[in-house]
Amino acid sequence: MRVRVAVNGYGTIGKRVADAVVKQPDLELVGVAKTSPDFEARRALDLGYPLFVAETASRSDFSAAGLAVAGTVTEMIGRADVVVDATPDKVGAANRALYDAAGVRAVFQGGEKASVADVSFNALGNYAAARGQRRVRVVSCNTTGISRAVAVVLPRWGVERWDVTLVRRAADPAESKKGPINGIVPSLHIPSHHGPDVQTIFPELPISTVALVVPTTLMHVHVNRVRLRNAPASVDEFVAALRATPRFRVFAPWERADGTPQVMEFARSRGLGHDDVPENVVWEEGVRLDGRDMHFFQAIHQESVTVPENIDAIRAMFDLAPDAATSIRMTDRALGLVRG
Ligand code: NAD
Repeated sequence: MRVRVAVNGYGTIGKRVADAVVKQPDLELVGVAKTSPDFEARRALDLGYPLFVAETASRSDFSAAGLAVAGTVTEMIGRADVVVDATPDKVGAANRALYDAAGVRAVFQGGEKASVADVSFNALGNYAAARGQRRVRVVSCNTTGISRAVAVVLPRWGVERWDVTLVRRAADPAESKKGPINGIVPSLHIPSHHGPDVQTIFPELPISTVALVVPTTLMHVHVNRVRLRNAPASVDEFVAALRATPRFRVFAPWERADGTPQVMEFARSRGLGHDDVPENVVWEEGVRLDGRDMHFFQAIHQESVTVPENIDAIRAMFDLAPDAATSIRMTDRALGLVRG
């Protein structure tokens, strides 16, 4: 039996999740839903994805554009076992009553409050917590990136204190009306919301985060300073642990990936689709160990890092895999992140 998945909201995240769903052997895409016709709606139909429209949308706008509509969101979720809600921030919470009324399970995104779901989710961090759940929230891109790193460090060396400075991209590449385009804008609320959000995955983690927004669309960069309980023998031990963990891509010094432009150039050449980098990117050269203090940078491709997590969330909810490692391997193989 394949789990039938509907994707409500076909934007940055929704289109990637839909593309990821159709690659999985145990999932089936029922369709995708949008509010208005545009080139993305045309793309969905070109790919053979049934296109549904939100109840509030004007079907005549779609027919005027020559786009065939398969039905409404209510009809779409009536055919699904689970809906992935990838609508803009806060719309997911408003949609929850619709999903509850239809008796369909739901995966929400990180733009929603944690209270939208029974559990917040990160595959490396707390896969088992989502097992059998009806409502799961995949945490945001930044929280996903930090949680993955915590999942590597915490069980190996323990954490006395984790501080992160998040250098956030201003907007996604297509969001030409957002800014800043010339300036650095600190988030003056300290700590930023990211630390408490990581604690939805690791409740006991002593973490503090601050954030600032810079004029780039490519990726976020995290500057991590971690006071460990027990230090590894060397930086090499830490780097080896990252390399051995799925969804980490460590660049060696000789690769000369100096910053996010080179990482994205790597992504464009690799050709996973959408120029995506769903892994945490770490620069080996930028890892430093001072006593028990580990310093490292990581870059997070905001548009794609949560996409494999959505797939694993569904597997956990329907108990389709015996454990996190199996689900992650299945997902990553299907997405072309690993071979063999
Ligand atoms: P987006 O604006 O790119 O896409 C949202 C899509 O939903 C659009 O196609 C929009 O037309 C559609 N939509 C709006 N209202 C709708 C409704 N009522 N019913 C159906 N569709 C509707 O947004 P996004 O960036 O993909 O973000 C989606 C969610 O993912 C948010 O919670 C966001 O915080 C989270 N997220 C975004 C990123 C990112 O970098 N873009 C990263 C991680 C998580």
